Amino acid sequence: MDAVKIDGKAIAEALRDRVAGDVALLQAKFNVTPGLAVVLIGNDPASSVYVKTKAKHAQTAGFKSQQFRLPGDVSEAELLGLIGELNADNSIDGILVQLPLPRHIDRWRVLEAIDPTKDVDGFHPYNVGRLAAGRPALVPCTPLGVVHLIRTVVSDLSGLDVVVIGRSNIVGKPLGVLLGDAGCTVTGAQLETRNLARRSREADIVIAAAGCAGLVRGDWLKPGAIVIDVGINRVVDSTGTAKLVGDVSFAEASKRASYITPVPGGVGPMTVGYLLANTVSAAVSRRGLSLGVGPRPAAYSHPTSASKLVQAGL
Ligand code: NAD
Repeated sequence: MDAVKIDGKAIAEALRDRVAGDVALLQAKFNVTPGLAVVLIGNDPASSVYVKTKAKHAQTAGFKSQQFRLPGDVSEAELLGLIGELNADNSIDGILVQLPLPRHIDRWRVLEAIDPTKDVDGFHPYNVGRLAAGRPALVPCTPLGVVHLIRTVVSDLSGLDVVVIGRSNIVGKPLGVLLGDAGCTVTGAQLETRNLARRSREADIVIAAAGCAGLVRGDWLKPGAIVIDVGINRVVDSTGTAKLVGDVSFAEASKRASYITPVPGGVGPMTVGYLLANTVSAAVSRRGLSLGVGPRPAAYSHPTSASKLVQAGL
């Protein structure tokens, strides 16, 4: 029997509805509208689409949503100046600078300039360190989305073997921390990893975040494994049509896995959902508020133990 598809689109929609509910509550109880500022530099078509999607969902959820589009040749000083203004603006709770940045701009200087309490991407070393140390932190959105998707099909992760393919700062590394905190034994694989197919075959959960189309084949999977495909790759098929595919050979993997995420419609929508959740979380914690509706905001901002997400019903 083919694997069951994990419907990231529907799960993300439910998450966004919950966030919208929290935004309404913040407005009703405290007259606070969370503000999200998204900064885009240059004209990269993919980045442009991501930014539009983020802004659209932020608006629908009731946020104050602001977009700043800067030319590709903007100076680093000018960009840092804008970040300084957004840091100082109390109506802005979340600041996201869309990556990648043009080569003449130092990515780290920019990411480190963002006020860590507004760092809704969770990329600032302050938040990275706090996550690693098991302290409350703003955590990168894609790893939160991945753990959420896994939680929809297996509630107790304790003791499970997970292979995470890819060790980037935005996906693989934080995911390793979250899953480790949830009791998993995590193998962090990368380009240099030897015997990846064998290691992958031993895993209960395989997460592919390498940016390599079709890397994970059917025979890389143990029967019944859970497969989460983070990869987004643009390929041209035999008819010359461009399409998006993941890092997993979907048809083959579906024959072996128990659950699998599609691309598109799997992890991608969850990333946007958690951007909104992180912004609510930042708004709540920056202002020292409590929504008084249970642990939802805490789960947005304190997910160092993935089990907290479950307690929160996320
Ligand atoms: P990255 O390029 O920063 O890192 C890639 C990692 O994968 C590296 O650690 C590299 O060693 C490893 N890798 C590459 N090829 C490999 C191979 N053949 N075997 C084993 N390991 C290999 O990547 P990233 O920014 O984390 O993105 C990874 C993929 O996830 C990309 O396709 C990206 O578009 C996608 N992505 C999706 C979302 C989403 O919301 N769905 C978010 C972020 C990234």
